[in-house]
Amino acid sequence: MSDSGKIGQRMYALVEELYPICRSITGNGVRSTLEIIKQSTPITIHEVKTGTQVFDWTVPKEWNINDAYIIGPDGDKIVDFNENNLHVLNYSAPINTTVPLDKLKEHLYTLPEHPQWIPYRTSYYQEKWGFCLSHDQYTSLKEGDYEVVIDSTLSDGHLTYGEYLIKGETDDEILLSCHICHPSLCNDNLSGIALMAQLIDHLHKQKLRYSYRFLFIPGTIGSITWLSRNENTAAKIKHGLVVVCVGDPGSFTYKRSRDGDAEIDRAVLNVLGDIETDFNVIDFYPYGYDERQYCSPGFNLKVGSLSRSTHGCFPEYHTSADNLSFITPDAMEESLSVYISVMDILENNKTYINTSPKCEPQLGKRGLYDSTGGTHTNDKNFQMALLWILNLSDGSYSLLDIAERSQIPFSTIKAAAAALYGTDLLKETPVTDPK
Ligand code: ZN
Repeated sequence: MSDSGKIGQRMYALVEELYPICRSITGNGVRSTLEIIKQSTPITIHEVKTGTQVFDWTVPKEWNINDAYIIGPDGDKIVDFNENNLHVLNYSAPINTTVPLDKLKEHLYTLPEHPQWIPYRTSYYQEKWGFCLSHDQYTSLKEGDYEVVIDSTLSDGHLTYGEYLIKGETDDEILLSCHICHPSLCNDNLSGIALMAQLIDHLHKQKLRYSYRFLFIPGTIGSITWLSRNENTAAKIKHGLVVVCVGDPGSFTYKRSRDGDAEIDRAVLNVLGDIETDFNVIDFYPYGYDERQYCSPGFNLKVGSLSRSTHGCFPEYHTSADNLSFITPDAMEESLSVYISVMDILENNKTYINTSPKCEPQLGKRGLYDSTGGTHTNDKNFQMALLWILNLSDGSYSLLDIAERSQIPFSTIKAAAAALYGTDLLKETPVTDPK
């Protein structure tokens, strides 16, 4: 098997290992998930106490669950948390009682449009109990008394999240963030965890200009908590992506940052444009995942979200059908390669100055002119890239500007800039902090 095939398999294997764990926004499911990630990536695990004020929110009570089931009028266990953790309303308060069917139904959640699937439902900030089950099973329930048991605890504890920093040449940071609060769901968002773990592995082997901060956090409350504890660090974040739903074989979706035309937006669109698949671009809107917090007006970080199928828009979303057969190693590996290409643009998007701007410099005497006329398409692109770079490098156009205007792939522009930089024709502009 090629190295490339192995990477997808490795990502899939991590998803398989994490899949059975019942996670939520707090609790031992999150801890054991982070411990598994830590076996291959030395993340730091942070614990923030229940009751801690984080901007307008408060870190909630910690939720843990041992068991949950419903026993029907015949004495059979008809719903069992141990068979599928989606059966319990996530963050359910404990209960141990017997209720008639009509009363039970007030606490049941189903998906009539997909009668065989179990929905994923949560109630984090309103204390209630409930079960989720297939609509087929729901309609077959008969009159009688039902014993319901949810052996859970809601008590003072902690919110847990993981963090990892790769230090680059500068303190400017690129943020990558994924949520770790969903139970047995694969695309949303175990695929994101697996992608981030593999991206860390990849970036560790590179010489990096930027520093990279990875956050493995519970959705919403996790990013709010991190931002409230790290306002100074947040100021160093120049670009970022929320990693979500990257495991299904659907086409890519990019949700722009709040400003919409940040460098991260342009880098992602450049990569997606080059791989020539159908892809969707959606404008920023203040819903979705943690980009809502990173792009809140008090921070307005340049953070977009790059996924495959758009969350909320595929039928399997937040159901038991978002399982191990919904994602593929190949799709995850392709997603990883897109993320790597985006980081490559950010790393190499520099602005240069042509030191010989009066008329075209003579490339032939520097070994850069293809005197045979260049029959190879890439060679022709490379020759054109040299000319574009020389023409536009007056200190006001970056390599990404040049790639966009010339419609030459960024990788070719990057290679041509490296060739020119190796001669006396190009020098780097002094680093200035944009805006
Ligand atoms: Zn979700």
